[in-house]
Amino acid sequence: MKMTAAVLRKFNQPLEVEERIIPPLKEGEVLVRIKASGICGSDLHMWKGKDPRTPLPLILGHEGIGIVEEIKGKKVDVLGRKVKEGDLIIWDRGIICGNCYFCTVRKEPSLCVKRQVYGITRDGSHATHLILLKETRVIKIEKKVDPAVLVPTSCSGATAVHAIELCSILEGDTVLIQGPGPMGIFSLALARERGASEVVVIGTKRSKMRLKISLEFGATKTFAVDETSFEERLSYLKERSDGRGADVVIDCTGSPSAIREGLRMTAPGGTYLLPGLAIPIDEVPINFYEDIVRRNVKVQGVWVSDTSHLLRAVKLVLSEKYPFEKLITHRFKLEEATEALKAVDVRKAMKAVLAP
Ligand SMILES: [Zn+2]
Ligand SMILES: [Zn+2]
Repeated sequence: MKMTAAVLRKFNQPLEVEERIIPPLKEGEVLVRIKASGICGSDLHMWKGKDPRTPLPLILGHEGIGIVEEIKGKKVDVLGRKVKEGDLIIWDRGIICGNCYFCTVRKEPSLCVKRQVYGITRDGSHATHLILLKETRVIKIEKKVDPAVLVPTSCSGATAVHAIELCSILEGDTVLIQGPGPMGIFSLALARERGASEVVVIGTKRSKMRLKISLEFGATKTFAVDETSFEERLSYLKERSDGRGADVVIDCTGSPSAIREGLRMTAPGGTYLLPGLAIPIDEVPINFYEDIVRRNVKVQGVWVSDTSHLLRAVKLVLSEKYPFEKLITHRFKLEEATEALKAVDVRKAMKAVLAP
């Protein structure tokens, strides 16, 4: 049997659409027919050669969902439900060893020393088919749903859940989100779920459509960073938080200027979270005395996510409390994978998916 895949062979060049033979399954493996595969910001980094993890050639795609076509042996999902042919499943993009210090003692599987990732360190879902290794943790989707809507839970949604887990948001808190991409939108919905009364979102002029969607998810105020001044944004936040600033700031941009601004906007005793920093960046000058120590501010790194975060992101989308279908602004055929990358690159798309 054959499959088709969009392959990254050279950085900054169009992905090559190729046919490949699907090898016979090994014990415990699952062959999935991909229904939708999301384009993530990390796809752009890898396409441009900015992510040091990228081996070539590589089938990109770490946000996949699909129908089980074949199983060799038995498979159950993380809730203990039997997985069978014809089931719609989503999977943890990370494959962990389950044996290292971080998997077993620290219980932080995101830091597993042998973590592999579909579409990043090994072939992924920008294809008609994907073979899931035996160790892959899957979630069966029993609710009738457009599969594309669940795609962003795999990476941005799960990582946002991880970020929120690493801070404390109390009822009435003020939260600032920098970067209204899919991760920012998930963080916004999660901050609302935790009881934040004010959620401010900062984007750019280019991302106006994303700021508009933020309002539909319950943002109380949005700013385009290139249309307003730092002082305007800061004074709004202070006014809405009894002079403190944002109790929690979630940086979903990974940009040095956003980090400098966000730290200055963090309230005394607050937390600055960094789930959006996915590739190496220049050093950021920080005034430790003024911005961190003197104000008891916590700076918290957030690296990827684990299966628990994926499951909670899936449940949030399936709850239908938020219009997550609005995130899927563009759908492309597999053959148009390069156009899909470009649409996300120029911020024309919020989330583009490939639907082979
Ligand atoms: Zn491990
Ligand atoms: Zn991603």
